[in-house]
Amino acid sequence: MSSLYQNYVRADIAFERGEGVRLFSTDGKEYLDFAGGIAVSAVGHADPHVVEAAKAQVEKLWHVGNVFQIPEQQKLAERLTSISFADMVFFTNSGAEAIECALKTARRYFYDKGEKDRYEIVTMEGAFHGRTLGTIAAGGNPAYLEGFGPKAEGFTQVPRGDLEALKAAISDKTAAILFEPVQGESGINVLNVEFLQSVRALCDEHGILMVLDEIQCGYGRTGKMFAYEWADIEPDIMALAKGIGGGFPLGACLAKEEIGKAMVPGTHGSTYGGNPLACTVGNAVLDRVTEDGFLDHVIEVGNHLQWSLRQLAQKHPEMIEEVRGKGLMCGIKVKPAAGDVITAFRENQLITVGAGDNVVRFLPPLIVTKDDIDEAIRRMDAGLKSLAS
Ligand SMILES: *Cc1c(COP(=O)(O)O)cnc(C)c1O
Repeated sequence: MSSLYQNYVRADIAFERGEGVRLFSTDGKEYLDFAGGIAVSAVGHADPHVVEAAKAQVEKLWHVGNVFQIPEQQKLAERLTSISFADMVFFTNSGAEAIECALKTARRYFYDKGEKDRYEIVTMEGAFHGRTLGTIAAGGNPAYLEGFGPKAEGFTQVPRGDLEALKAAISDKTAAILFEPVQGESGINVLNVEFLQSVRALCDEHGILMVLDEIQCGYGRTGKMFAYEWADIEPDIMALAKGIGGGFPLGACLAKEEIGKAMVPGTHGSTYGGNPLACTVGNAVLDRVTEDGFLDHVIEVGNHLQWSLRQLAQKHPEMIEEVRGKGLMCGIKVKPAAGDVITAFRENQLITVGAGDNVVRFLPPLIVTKDDIDEAIRRMDAGLKSLAS
């Protein structure tokens, strides 16, 4: 019997080394990694700059706790606020914790304004915000809520992208609207720019907060540093994780000053959150992501991936129903079971990851090249052919 919880369905493969977009298994095979540990490995595996920074910090100091000044944390926060809408940052170790902080911040902001009953958060169907008791209530997925006792109160859900339903859901109890500009887990569903702008206007009209979950779609993934930039708007609060640590457990909740300042001493905390080692890695990842031309590269190769996937779909209409995505956050809705397609791709040494709606997701490191993409497409083609025969 395994000594691990059996909550994951694992492929029978283990990796011992990574380099850029490539993973090397313990049985000596080379794989193209188009999952990136689910959008985590933003700058690829074992990026020399990140490795060097991490190595130096490992030998100096790992952890002290948030009762002291942490210069690496301060620096990362200053950099994040300088490239985003935000003025203040709280660091976490995961995405779910970043969302928890976002939810608590939104509620506490209204509490401080004397609006104690304004705690309701409106979310979208298909949302995924994490696996804690609070974030499964926010996500609203019945399968994730089942068997875990009463759902945390104060969440209402509307169909994804439905502005009228959103308007109807707003009451004098509403504190915030929370959603992912591009839904990941539901199967790569891009919410359009007009919708984001309308939500912003709606939030302004009602004096409520716009909270974005950019844990998967942020940090350069769509070709902008943050996906909200495509709509020329600014949220009030935003959760980040995944790409921000490039594989080191790190997350962040960003807020405008007026809102973030509600989180006074005693309201929130995290033992590890933003420790020197995590933030050193975070700073090194950010050095890479903010390099000149980095985001242009994401747009260029993202376009190439989407164009190539459309070609592939034309070649295999019996297998691929639809191509979805923005930048390097792409998916194909397939006709066979997505799990079978993922297995066929893996047998051709290409790693991908599933999502809802029978979608196969592609979330490669953002440094992926056109040649890597062409190679991946050849492996997909071979996988689809083997499935068909
Ligand atoms: C992965 C993810 C989360 C949860 O992040 P964890 O680090 O697994 O807690 C939340 N929201 C979105 C959009 C995600 O993709």
